[in-house]
Amino acid sequence: MRIALFGDIHANLEALEAVLADAREQNCTDYVCMGDLVGYNANPAECLEIVRSMNCPVVKGNHDEDACGTHSLDTMNPVAANALLWTRQQLNEEQCDWLRKLRMVRQVADFTVVHSTLDQPTNWNYVTNRFDAMSNFSYQFTQVCFHGHTHVPRVYVKDSKVHEVNADSVIIEPGAKYFINVGSVGQPRDGDWRSCYVIYDMAHHLIVFRRIEYPLEITQKKIIDAGLPEMLASRLAGGR
Ligand code: ZN
Repeated sequence: MRIALFGDIHANLEALEAVLADAREQNCTDYVCMGDLVGYNANPAECLEIVRSMNCPVVKGNHDEDACGTHSLDTMNPVAANALLWTRQQLNEEQCDWLRKLRMVRQVADFTVVHSTLDQPTNWNYVTNRFDAMSNFSYQFTQVCFHGHTHVPRVYVKDSKVHEVNADSVIIEPGAKYFINVGSVGQPRDGDWRSCYVIYDMAHHLIVFRRIEYPLEITQKKIIDAGLPEMLASRLAGGR
């Protein structure tokens, strides 16, 4: 079983298509989505429909929640809030209802999936260091858990202590627990503009991070043409 784990698509259709094409080429047999299908970029409905049609496990992200709500976005940063107000106009009631019904946490095969962290998943806490990861491990009852939310690919390992691993691939060793951020398809923030996702090769206990190029200029033009904040287009090129 080769599973493609992808998330934080954020309505970037070109990036999503490039990632799914690569996953097919890499002989992935199954797909799991970490959430945040919408928000920021210009193709929320299209990305939602692609993921929905895949009929794969999907967990809810904070932008999915905000896009299908009617609550005020006053506490959010203005650029994200602007994009979410626009996104609300792009989705129909039935698409909103599908987003609303997504679950916060799922167990798939022998691993767990969550958008932010297993420690209070509805609070959308960001895991940016090993101390943040420690609170997650207290609630992680499977050996491996995948997440997203920070848009920065990362592996946290808990053996005798919790440490951070920065590598293109990792072997799952017996006796240790793994909390793995799969990075972002549609808006990477680790300084690399290319889409990021993970392949979990279960038979070989192997995790591989993939970086995929996509036609960036097309995505940027769509953002500008939609009247979304210009900075959402420029940030994509710098991977931030
Ligand atoms: Zn996100």
